[in-house]
Amino acid sequence: MNDLTLRDKCQVYIPKPRVPHIIIFDIPPQDGDQAAHENNFILQLKESNELTDQEIKAVFKKKGRGSLQNWILAMQSKNYQEIKDKKRLRCGFNSYLFKEFLEPLRCFGCYRFGHLKRNCRETKPTCTKCTANHDPKGCTNPHPICRNCVLCNKSTNLKIRADHMSNSNLCPMYLREIEFIAKHTIYG
Ligand SMILES: [Zn+2]
Ligand SMILES: [Zn+2]
Ligand SMILES: [Zn+2]
Repeated sequence: MNDLTLRDKCQVYIPKPRVPHIIIFDIPPQDGDQAAHENNFILQLKESNELTDQEIKAVFKKKGRGSLQNWILAMQSKNYQEIKDKKRLRCGFNSYLFKEFLEPLRCFGCYRFGHLKRNCRETKPTCTKCTANHDPKGCTNPHPICRNCVLCNKSTNLKIRADHMSNSNLCPMYLREIEFIAKHTIYG
């Protein structure tokens, strides 16, 4: 069975073709107008790295080290080609570590992919350690079993390893998701 068939059976959404995304690590936060802060940062990033002037968008931010932030930026493939072999990006007098960002959206309510917790339709708590609907703190299952992988095995005749937590970064469904996102990224 190819990837697509598997994806159709096991997942509810198919990502649209997307532009490359990067994550830039440990950017100091700044008070005040966030949109202006983002614009300035991106402008400086383009100047300092001599990038072709194309649209770069701040998609969202994640918590970084301490009070620092990790920013996820979406950019056109030309800009991505201009930076992809660098280790750090200069921005004014600073430079930041970065890498390509391929993480799928993962819901921290039901642990499925393609939506965030705020858009989750699951009303009961979902256990990360077994397939039941209960708070993971009260779980009495001795060994973890992944809900996503169990569901996938049920709807296909595959036998994906399911002996891991459903929020594990080694979950085969999670890794497949990353592969799938890379396949749908337009690198130019
Ligand atoms: Zn959910
Ligand atoms: Zn459980
Ligand atoms: Zn899994």
